[in-house]
Amino acid sequence: MRAIRFDRTGGPDVLELQDVPTPTPGPGEILIRHEAVGVNFIDTYHRSGLYPVPLPSGLGQEAAGVVEAVGDGVTRFKVGDRAAYAMGSPGSYADAKTLAEARAVHVPDGIDARTAAAVLLKGMTAEFLLRRAYPLKSGQSVLIHAAAGGVGQLLTQWAKAIGATVIATAGSAAKAEIARSLGADHVILYRDQDVAAEVRRFTDGEGVAVAYDAVGKDTFEGTLGSLARRGLFVSFGNASGSPPPVEALRLMRAGSLFFTRPTLADYVATTEELDASAAAVFDMVSSGRIRIAIGQTYPLAKAAKAHEALEGRHTNGATLLTLE
Ligand code: NDP
Repeated sequence: MRAIRFDRTGGPDVLELQDVPTPTPGPGEILIRHEAVGVNFIDTYHRSGLYPVPLPSGLGQEAAGVVEAVGDGVTRFKVGDRAAYAMGSPGSYADAKTLAEARAVHVPDGIDARTAAAVLLKGMTAEFLLRRAYPLKSGQSVLIHAAAGGVGQLLTQWAKAIGATVIATAGSAAKAEIARSLGADHVILYRDQDVAAEVRRFTDGEGVAVAYDAVGKDTFEGTLGSLARRGLFVSFGNASGSPPPVEALRLMRAGSLFFTRPTLADYVATTEELDASAAAVFDMVSSGRIRIAIGQTYPLAKAAKAHEALEGRHTNGATLLTLE
């Protein structure tokens, strides 16, 4: 089978398409033949070395397809089942992958493989951020950075479905329009405008109850300055680089703030949590309350191009690798 692999960290050029043996599922494992592969910003962190992985390594955390073989003792899946997965050891940029059956989910009828591969990781991220890292309530104000991005589009729609007032940020006028079309009440062009000042203006000086910030370094100060008294800063990514260390006294001075730095892996740590989160996402999609826009697709062999686009801020919505 074909697989994207890398033996040193660096830019997109370290990614290589290789022919490798198709793995055989061990006890408790399944082999999924991929139909679509999800590209996520975290893949760029593995490739660059920001999140170190043992080398040489495969890449990618998300795909959907059909179960082609099962190992001894497998009970959740049978050959022919439609399945998807998100997170775990990198290696989804490939024609197929083996993984523990406990880490895969069934894809419901009515959700095709492209949609599943585009929505599972980003959707479960939106699910845990809006329902568990902070249980967002109707009427609250929320700040969502990079709202035209993959996770950002889902956060925006889901927060609106909850009934929150969404203040979104975007890197261009075109992306601001996307955020507005998804229901954002206010959009800040954060490359030009003062985020905290704009947020205060939109909230009558009060600030937001919760801010979701995966841009990291560039937005840290603006996010901190946007929170209401006792608000929560959710730092969940590093698209512009890692955020600076958080000084405890600054949290006090800024209004007895809370700060958390969650990762999806800890919110879908058990199979029960994984199934519940995936089911919530698929339900939001099936009921039409969230829609995943697949903004761009690339053939597997062009994975490096997908990374260049993602890191260059040229994408919107989800990015997929196709396997034709
Ligand atoms: P996106 O599609 O959101 O792409 C990243 C976006 O970030 C860009 O399109 C861009 O939007 C914005 N951005 C701002 N500054 C920069 C910069 N310097 N370089 C590149 N992009 C920048 O990616 P994903 O939806 O895959 O992921 C979004 C974020 O969520 C990532 O930081 C990711 O790591 C994080 N994440 C965290 C998870 C967790 O468990 N903690 C799980 C999943 C994702 P614009 O042009 O509008 O500025």
